[in-house]
Order: sequence, then structure tokens, then C-alpha cells
Amino acid sequence: MKTAIVFHDDFRKYALGSDHPFTGERYKHLPEVFGHKDLSARKSEITFMRPKPADEACIEAVHGEQYLGFIRGINETGGMITLDTPIPPGLYDIARLFAGANILAGRLIAENMVRRVVVPGLGAHHAGYDFGGGFCMINDIAVMIEYLRKYYPVQKIMAIDYDAHCGDGTQDIYYDCPDVLCVDLHQDPMTLFPGKGFAYQIGVDAGQGHTINLPMPPGASDEDFMRAFQEVILPVAMDFAPDLIVANGGLDAHVDDPLSQLRLSINGFQQMMRSIADLSQKVCDSRLILILGGGYNPKVVPAPGRR
Ligand SMILES: [Zn+2]
Repeated sequence: MKTAIVFHDDFRKYALGSDHPFTGERYKHLPEVFGHKDLSARKSEITFMRPKPADEACIEAVHGEQYLGFIRGINETGGMITLDTPIPPGLYDIARLFAGANILAGRLIAENMVRRVVVPGLGAHHAGYDFGGGFCMINDIAVMIEYLRKYYPVQKIMAIDYDAHCGDGTQDIYYDCPDVLCVDLHQDPMTLFPGKGFAYQIGVDAGQGHTINLPMPPGASDEDFMRAFQEVILPVAMDFAPDLIVANGGLDAHVDDPLSQLRLSINGFQQMMRSIADLSQKVCDSRLILILGGGYNPKVVPAPGRR
């Protein structure tokens, strides 16, 4: 089965400042990782694709006019969305490139060119309809979902968010939507940004029951995450029967990450990736987009041969 990897060298320009946890450094090692012998040996199964920035109309399908006016303004001058999210001039253009990468991933799957796509990109899940923050400006996950829902018969999408922080922006956008099932594993919001993502937050109106928050206590381990996966994520996915699964998260739930108090190991992440891939095989003919972002310990971000 062919897998695509969507990547652009300009991803490294998504850098929020030299003393900020989100620098572009994480992307610099990736071309070396792509050339590693483990991947080279599977060359015939992997295709590399280069994205273009998403059109403005695709961004406007997700975010409000007023918020985008603000974003476009600070893209010219530089500015700040929230205290933790300084915006250097030109960052919006790079955010659009990440959104374009996800759109390309979605199109490759919707047009049956591949079944699985990995985007070592962003997953800016703290950006909601009219807000940003938490290092996020444009919700590139939702931009992709809306693009597919508009142009392809891909209508039911399951979004699995295993980042250490709750994907409050993605949930905000789909809180009343029955066609996008948001399942979110994250550290207990009583103990971590963004202070949202409690188990009782389950969606509203037609979307009620289509947001599922699984807060994990600080110290939660590989076994705890796998238990949540087996006991909740697996059965709800079988019940929902999505057309596509999109999973986002990086490595910030890792035991050595400075921004969370979770205790996942690299083995735990690998186990979760395998479980998500197996799940996609069971429920949506293996159609899976994996958006990898986050992770704030430079010793844990991908490097060739690291286990
Ligand atoms: Zn995070």
C-alpha cells in the first residue's frame, strides 16, 4: 500500500522566536530522516509530495472575517495573538503552507492515489473560528476537513487528537457538527493549557456526543493511553464509521517533554500509530492522514535511527 509524505523546506520558517519553544529547528532534520536507510528500503511504497499554500477561500471556510482581518494585519507588521503566540511578519503565509499540505494530503486520499499520508507539519489545533493562541494561528486540520467536505464525497471524518494539550480550536469549529467526530486524548485541563477539554464537554445541538474528551491525569503512561484507545476510541470509531481518519499530535506527551507531565515513551507513540493505522483499516479502508506537530524537547524530535 502506497503512503505519501507531504513536506516543504519552508516549514522551518514557522518559528515564533529564538527563545520560544516552537522554533523551526524541528523541521531541519526531516530531510535527513527521509533519506534514512529504513525509509530508503521502502522507497517503492513511499511517495514524497511538495505542497502549495492554501488559497484564502479555503482559510475563509473555517475562520471568521474579523479574526482573519486581524491575522492579515499582524502578518504585515508582526504582532501577537496571545502572550504565548508572538507573530513575526510573514508567519500567516507559512501557516497557509501547512494548510495547503493538509489539503494536498486530503486530495491524494480522496482521489484514491494513496491510502495513507503523513504530514510532518503543524496541526494548529488551538486555532478556533475566531481565536488563536497556543502557538496556533490557522487551524490547518479544519481547513483540510472543510476542503474535503466541500469538494469530495468525504463527509464523515473522525479527528483523533493525541497531543498533550486539548485541541480546543478544532473542537470549537466542530462543536455543533454531527459529521466530524472529535476524539481528544490530553492531559487533564485542570493541570495544563488550554484549560478546556473536560469529559463533560461533549458538543452541542446536532453535534452533541460528537466531541469526546479523554483527559488523562499527569503521569499517565503508554498503558493508560492504550487503554483509552481500546476502550473508547476503537468502539466509537466502529460505531461512527468515518470516511477518513485524521490524527494529529506530536511528541509533547513524551516523558521528557518540558511542556507536559505525561509519560509516553517512543514505543508508546509507535504503538499508538500502529493502533490508529489498524483502526483506519477496520473502519475506513485504511484512509488515514497523520499530521505530526508539537513536541518541545529537541532531543526527542525525529532524528535518523532514533528509537
Ligand atoms: Zn501540544
